[in-house]
Amino acid sequence: MIIVLKPGASKLEADEILSKIDAKGLKPLYMPGSERTVIGALGDERLLGELHLESHPAVERLDPILAPYKAVSREMHPENSIVQFGNIPIGGNGFVVVGGPCAVEGYEKLSTSAKAVKEAGAHGLRGGAFKPRTSPYSFQGLGLEGLKILQQVGLENGMPVITEVVELADVDAVETYADAFQVGARNMQNFRLLTALGQANKPVFLKRGMAASVKDVLMAAEYIVSEGNQQVVLCERGIRTFESGTRNTLDLSAVCQFKALSHLPVVVDPSHGTGVREYVAPMAYAAAAAGADGILVEVHHNPKEALSDGAQSLFPDQFAELMQRLRPFVEAAGRTLDF
Ligand code: PEP
Ligand code: MN
Repeated sequence: MIIVLKPGASKLEADEILSKIDAKGLKPLYMPGSERTVIGALGDERLLGELHLESHPAVERLDPILAPYKAVSREMHPENSIVQFGNIPIGGNGFVVVGGPCAVEGYEKLSTSAKAVKEAGAHGLRGGAFKPRTSPYSFQGLGLEGLKILQQVGLENGMPVITEVVELADVDAVETYADAFQVGARNMQNFRLLTALGQANKPVFLKRGMAASVKDVLMAAEYIVSEGNQQVVLCERGIRTFESGTRNTLDLSAVCQFKALSHLPVVVDPSHGTGVREYVAPMAYAAAAAGADGILVEVHHNPKEALSDGAQSLFPDQFAELMQRLRPFVEAAGRTLDF
């Protein structure tokens, strides 16, 4: 249920309503807006009925939410949400670019890639420390050491860092060293992990599962937001189809659907979305044109020797060219690209 407060309702009145909702065993969500405050109540609406909030002096009206996802729906929060990734806002007017290697392979290598993406204009740095690989014989990531390297290189280059959290036991470590959690496609429906991230204090980039519908993604995001962490960014990274010319089929129409159905920011990963280096830049431009709030791009200082995802990783000069050519697409979509 959405409880719309009257313009001018005080924080004290909002707090009173929030604690009444909480006392009924429902989850209260506080969403102050530029024009008026909205309160969400998630859970059994029959219990909410017992509070008779419709006659509370600070309440303008009660609106039921029809979608199965509640907290992430646009009905709940008509304005776009802005997620703070370090010092970078995502979901506002600025288009955000996060670049970096698939995996952290060591300090020197990451430092070289990070300098290159920073120089080209990237806002954030990516790099996996825990890698969910298809083969158990492939490079699995540097683990805790990788997290420490990522943090250090991010600080040295003035970029917030994002890395994947693969399992529950690593949530605290990732939260300590990174500015944002990445939930990988393979873990999008690991509901216990999502619940734990809902109780964490860093933003979560939730990647679309390779066989997940748009609605499945929104339900997964609901697990995080309903626990109290409203800092969620949705990520389209391609889905499995019968097409074999690309690693995945990048579903850019999902950007439009996510934007229509949810207030959460949306980013696109054209690297995993195609799996082919040459296709990354055109899909990045298309993502900007489709209205995405940003992109995650794999860039490696020497992709031929990358320990994972080399075939889809851009050479630094290709990334620099992408950044140069991206601007008109971003601006055509009514956004800005600052660097
Ligand atoms: C990655 O970002 O390197 C990754 C493993 O992504 P995904 O979960 O989308 O496959
Ligand atoms: Mn990768």
